[in-house]
Amino acid sequence: MIEKRVFGSMPDGQAVQAYSLTNTKGTSIEILTLGATIRSWKLAGDKTIDVVLGYDTVDDYLADQGYLGRTVGRYANRIAKGQFKLNNRKHQVSTNLQGNALHGGIDGFHNRLWQVADNQAYDSNVVCMSLYSEDGDQGFPGNLQVTVLFSLDDSNCLTIEYRAQCDQDTLFNPTQHSYFNLAGHDSGVIYDQKIKAYASFYTPADEQAIPLGDIKAVAGSAFDLSHELPFGTLIDQKDPEIRSASGLDHNWCVDGFSPDQSKMNLAAVVTEPERGRQLIMRTSMPGLQIYTGNFIGSLPIGKGKVTYSPYCGFCLESQFYPDSPNQPGFPSPVLKANTAFVSRTSYQILQEV
Ligand code: BGC
Repeated sequence: MIEKRVFGSMPDGQAVQAYSLTNTKGTSIEILTLGATIRSWKLAGDKTIDVVLGYDTVDDYLADQGYLGRTVGRYANRIAKGQFKLNNRKHQVSTNLQGNALHGGIDGFHNRLWQVADNQAYDSNVVCMSLYSEDGDQGFPGNLQVTVLFSLDDSNCLTIEYRAQCDQDTLFNPTQHSYFNLAGHDSGVIYDQKIKAYASFYTPADEQAIPLGDIKAVAGSAFDLSHELPFGTLIDQKDPEIRSASGLDHNWCVDGFSPDQSKMNLAAVVTEPERGRQLIMRTSMPGLQIYTGNFIGSLPIGKGKVTYSPYCGFCLESQFYPDSPNQPGFPSPVLKANTAFVSRTSYQILQEV
């Protein structure tokens, strides 16, 4: 079942809608047309527990610097200096972090108003949000039409399907930037929640989190998540790459990736120890950015007047590897003209296992 309400309005007066998807178990997920943003994820059986960080007003979302719950594009994560070559032509896209492009540039997809079609069904559990990004948007080539489908099933699994098509060769690398806290968004730091990742390799990076270009085995390194470890232990490691990012903020290479993205692979499982609640993430994309919320700010104030702080949520961002346009050895984020892009990522929450 889907319900719709007005969440607020944009500075130009346009309404921001909130769509709530509720399954037969009672899990309820609210998604905003502002940024195609997951604003809340309330658990079946205990609606007081909301496992994603978010805000109560449109103004707070517009002031947010942490991309809470947002759909990110055109290019999630970093492009070094915002520069890349495509078909022998140099492109410069909008830069917004240390001279690099992060999450689509200054005016990325996360602050746009997405459209929901008039014929959206309300007796289903699928909401479809679309965005048109014109040629030259933030410097990216081609007129791009993007659709994101959010569907919630009765096993508490939210599947996000990204579809896109462009009239020129371009780059496309969308992600979902929810910060999860399986004990509740208002429960403080995530140190005791444990993560296991299904990724035998990662991409070492410099101090600005730009990959060096090699793909390195995690075995024997601080990036080995093949056995579950608490986030607190991982954040505190003495490894220089982890120190320089103030925690985890790195790209792992998901095992089993196939370039046609025809199957989703198990990428990560996070467990909250007290109740045994689990988040299972699967994706057809090649990369997984595990980010421990190292730079979460105290402003804006979060939902229900909760003040957020560093490490009070973690993100599992499916993606092409950072700076892929400049790394010939990485899976290519190029979307060919008039070719359909389809990728899928899912987040499933198991309760009280
Ligand atoms: C990036 C971080 C960044 C955060 C919020 C993550 O995806 O990797 O470096 O601080 O998003 O912008």
